[in-house]
Amino acid sequence: MVMDGDIERVLWTEEEIAGRVAELAAQISDDFQRFPSPVVVVGVATGAFLFLADIVRKITIPIVVDFIRVESYGSGTESNGSPIISCDLKVDVSGKHVIVVEDIVDTGNTISCLNSHLMSKGASSISVCALLNKPARRRVPFKLAGEGKFYSGFECPNHFVVGYGLDFAELYRNLSYIGVLKSEKYNQAEEN
Ligand code: 5GP
Ligand code: MG
Ligand code: MG
Repeated sequence: MVMDGDIERVLWTEEEIAGRVAELAAQISDDFQRFPSPVVVVGVATGAFLFLADIVRKITIPIVVDFIRVESYGSGTESNGSPIISCDLKVDVSGKHVIVVEDIVDTGNTISCLNSHLMSKGASSISVCALLNKPARRRVPFKLAGEGKFYSGFECPNHFVVGYGLDFAELYRNLSYIGVLKSEKYNQAEEN
């Protein structure tokens, strides 16, 4: 199977992603260095796994890393609107500053759900670092707890994108770039 043939166009190359990830890491290191205790960096599985792996290696302050799994998508391209936490954190976040690392913020449902969940666990502040932001599709405006900040890598056009962790039906996560998936690919799958 040739994955590149399923991509309509590349939006961000491996090099462009690496450059932006380094900038975000520098900004985060700068903003959080004043806190005496390590910040908890929470990767949202599975989509953020590459972004998380790359950004934590560029962050220069002490951090603790954990994963959380939130599911709202079946194998389609539309959020069902009510995400559930299917695998919770291992680390205790009470009294900690938390940075949620996400692949993409789309409708905002996942982030709102995580924000309330982490607040209920007593986090001191919740920030979000999303590689992609798709504001055209926002349905739930979110206000981050404490002095939480929103960091975003690139503004994503209103297309379904894959690669660098982002999937369609669990495929394409291993592309090193991010691109628009040919619509025939998901139309085909929806017809089957
Ligand atoms: P939200 O809850 O903000 O609607 O969506 C968050 C999740 O939906 C993301 O973490 C991601 O897994 C998925 N998602 C949203 N837009 C896209 C997209 O364009 N491509 C892919 N592959 N996943 C997306
Ligand atoms: Mg995600
Ligand atoms: Mg997905």
